[in-house]
Amino acid sequence: MKRLFLKTLIAVMALPMIGIAHAEDKGLVAVAMPTKSSARWIADGNNIVKTLQAEGYTTDLQYGDDDIPNQLAQIENMVTKKPKVLVIAAIDGTTLTDVLKKAHEAGVKVIAYDRLIKGTPDVDYYATFDNFQVGVLQGQSIIDKLGLKQGKGPFNIELFGGSPDDNNAFFFYNGAMSVLDPYIKSGKLVVRSKQFGMDKVGTLRWDGAVAQARMDNLLSAYYGNAKLDAVLSPYDGLSIGILSSVKGVGYCTAQQPCPIVTGQDAEIPSVKSILHGEQYSTIFKDTRRLAKVTVAMIDAMMQGKAPQVNDTKTYNNGVKVVPSYLLNPVLVDSTNWKPILIDSGYYTEAQVK
Ligand code: BGC
Repeated sequence: MKRLFLKTLIAVMALPMIGIAHAEDKGLVAVAMPTKSSARWIADGNNIVKTLQAEGYTTDLQYGDDDIPNQLAQIENMVTKKPKVLVIAAIDGTTLTDVLKKAHEAGVKVIAYDRLIKGTPDVDYYATFDNFQVGVLQGQSIIDKLGLKQGKGPFNIELFGGSPDDNNAFFFYNGAMSVLDPYIKSGKLVVRSKQFGMDKVGTLRWDGAVAQARMDNLLSAYYGNAKLDAVLSPYDGLSIGILSSVKGVGYCTAQQPCPIVTGQDAEIPSVKSILHGEQYSTIFKDTRRLAKVTVAMIDAMMQGKAPQVNDTKTYNNGVKVVPSYLLNPVLVDSTNWKPILIDSGYYTEAQVK
């Protein structure tokens, strides 16, 4: 009797524990991020891990140091752990075909995170921002500040693109050019270097030092006595390099203000620069929202449901159109940084001052 009672007691006590353990463990999700050299990806990694863990997943987060073989090795290793899902922000979106084939063969689902993975059927969904719109907003901020719609000009502008192995870079450039091109054609915007197109203006690995060196060359070759009025920059890390370069030849003073320089990611050095009247604008991409969308996709797949998407046309990876969820990017400048970045709880005011 006593033994039976004890056994029953132990069984009853164990029940809720098993229940909790089961509810809390939805399985492993592996997350591959490109680099820690940009704060944006650190925020992405933190937010996605936090959101996944809150939903009961275990996580394996790795950063690839912007080194393609390194990221490939990390993903190969992740696949051997048989996660439920692989979430990948690729360094080079074209180099993952074989490892993703293996992943799919092992029943692992694949989500392209922020950057499209190209040339493979083995990618299930894509969670990102409206990348074309990022470029449109960057271009428009130049148009508005210069007063081009009011007929002002001509002004001198130089164009910078992102990394040519990142599909997003083309969307940013094309989005910006869709609004800048009419003014270039009409002569209200002049590109003195005549360097157009991603093959000429791209910046491998989004490297700020490379952008700075190119800006140095452009200034010395094409801007002897001419004034540079604006620079299309697709990413804050490049913008900071470009601003260092223009400062080196005397811009960003009371007599000679900085050219209008755009950016992206609302990274802290750039927000500070905007508050100091140097960088003109940036694009805020709320990584908290991207994490939520990604985890919602994962949850849906785990329940055998189709994840919610809002774009099934735009992102053809060369093999298939990857069903996508696009979030809205937001332009930030000196007029709206507070409501967008501080009141939303993304940064504290002390962080950006
Ligand atoms: C991202 C941008 C980022 C860039 C450089 C792109 O793929 O979409 O937000 O500025 O990579 O890290």
